[in-house]
Amino acid sequence: MGFFTNLIPKRFRKKEETDKPAEYKNNVPKEKDTIKKSFAVYCNSHHDTKGEKLCPKCTALLATIFKKMSRCRYGITKPICDRCDNMCFGDANNKKFLDIMDASGKRMLMKHPVTAVKHKLTKWGVDYAKQKQNDDIAEKEESKRKAKAAKIRQREARKIQGKKKK
Ligand SMILES: [Zn+2]
Repeated sequence: MGFFTNLIPKRFRKKEETDKPAEYKNNVPKEKDTIKKSFAVYCNSHHDTKGEKLCPKCTALLATIFKKMSRCRYGITKPICDRCDNMCFGDANNKKFLDIMDASGKRMLMKHPVTAVKHKLTKWGVDYAKQKQNDDIAEKEESKRKAKAAKIRQREARKIQGKKKK
């Protein structure tokens, strides 16, 4: 579990898991590296470029994304950008970014398998944590609903008893 838990961004983890010594690991440089590689893989195959030299459009988009990442509202506790609920690159850039990350997935596995697999695990980790968060909320709502129903039943029972006394 330890390995898997570590892949989940801290703000999604349960309290007891984050209570331990608060050592925040700055994963932003690693994420930037993953994104840069994904862009290269994508641009090479779609825009006929070679190696790390990207076409002007991809270069500009990558620069914008890196700038925004450095100013991320979540700081170094940020989730990975392609699983963020508040993507901040601007609508058109958000879409293009997700398209590129998506489209480069398979080629990334061939060219940078370790990076690709790590990124995939992180994505699963975030998805898992989000799902768990939703389940917890649903569970709370359900117990609230049950408590309310029980109260109504009690009230009804008291009413009936009251009528019997008369
Ligand atoms: Zn390009």
